[in-house]
Amino acid sequence: MDKPYDFLIVGAGLFGAVFAREMSLRGKRCLVIDRRKHVGGNLYCEQIEGINVHKYGPHIFHTNDKNIWDFVNSLVRFNHFVYSPLAAYQDKLYNLPFNMNTFYQIWHSRSPQHVKIIIQNQINESGICIPKNLEEQAIKMVGSQIYEMFIKGYTEKQWGRKAKDLPSSIIKRIPVRYTFDNRYFNDTYQGIPIGGYNKLIDALLEKIEVRTKVDFFSDRIFFKEIADIIVFTGQLDEFYDYRYGNLEYRSLRFEEKILDRKYFQDVAVVNYPEISIPYTRIVEHKYFEFGNQPRTVITKEYPQEWLPGTEAYYPINDLKNNLILKKYAQLAKEEEKVIFGGRLAEYKYYDMHQVIASALAKSRVLNK
Ligand code: UDP
Repeated sequence: MDKPYDFLIVGAGLFGAVFAREMSLRGKRCLVIDRRKHVGGNLYCEQIEGINVHKYGPHIFHTNDKNIWDFVNSLVRFNHFVYSPLAAYQDKLYNLPFNMNTFYQIWHSRSPQHVKIIIQNQINESGICIPKNLEEQAIKMVGSQIYEMFIKGYTEKQWGRKAKDLPSSIIKRIPVRYTFDNRYFNDTYQGIPIGGYNKLIDALLEKIEVRTKVDFFSDRIFFKEIADIIVFTGQLDEFYDYRYGNLEYRSLRFEEKILDRKYFQDVAVVNYPEISIPYTRIVEHKYFEFGNQPRTVITKEYPQEWLPGTEAYYPINDLKNNLILKKYAQLAKEEEKVIFGGRLAEYKYYDMHQVIASALAKSRVLNK
């Protein structure tokens, strides 16, 4: 007997929503379920004081891929927001990512050649040749002084691990420039959906049957019966009942405040790299959409270790976890009726454009 759906998509985040849209455009019967009470995964925004508050941390869309940019812009228009956070260190503000503005603020140097000599001397003193971990990679990129000021404390708070025990790939996300250019991302296309991320997700899921507050794990047997193929976007280790042990994630706690004043910090994000300050950043949400509301909403972000029952945010792609991942990935490979996708199911530190690319690629393979 025919099953009621071709695809059951577990998780209404970005991967699930893109995948569902692609398949339903091809006439497939899709059902999307999510255990949260809303769709959108970590992109979800809540309107507070007329401001779209990024409830699961700041999301700034950026890509170099024109096809991905055209894809999202065909669903909702994007504004021209460019991410340029600041770092607050010992009562002074510095520009990020590391660029001539930052170097000028630290060393009063206007010359890239001079800055390169300062940094090279610090690298030489450290004795690092081929970086083997995040700490060494960071020193190789910006020298030991900037590492100590802006990276060590932030990283060790963010990940709950020594920078020496983390992979170099994490710090390679951040550009270093010898020009006066404060754009956090190098990508050609950047912005925020006008009206917030919910507009993007709603457009993706427009014609699709969605049920929230439905937990796949509450009745797996039933859910396996109702669709030919399951698209799973949750935690890979949970799917396999943690049989090889659990993969580690970093979680976050958000402390949100409505302030009875128009502006708080005059910029969307200020990072706090000092280890003595328990949060990593303060987000002032109105700036993502150039808001002019009379009040403002801010969020302090406190990293914490993931425990069962809390939200998983960041996969920790260190050696230990990647070995466990290998075992789960082998099981996943053998599945004929299950597709895994997204940050949690692929256990990858994906940005949004990479999640979309993965969902498009996986849906297109099926159409061949
Ligand atoms: N990082 C840092 N200092 C900063 C910002 C970032 O040391 O002020 C490091 C930290 O290890 C962080 C990584 O760079 O985890 C990647 O930063 P990104 O801004 O990409 O993190 P996300 O926005 O994804 O949390």
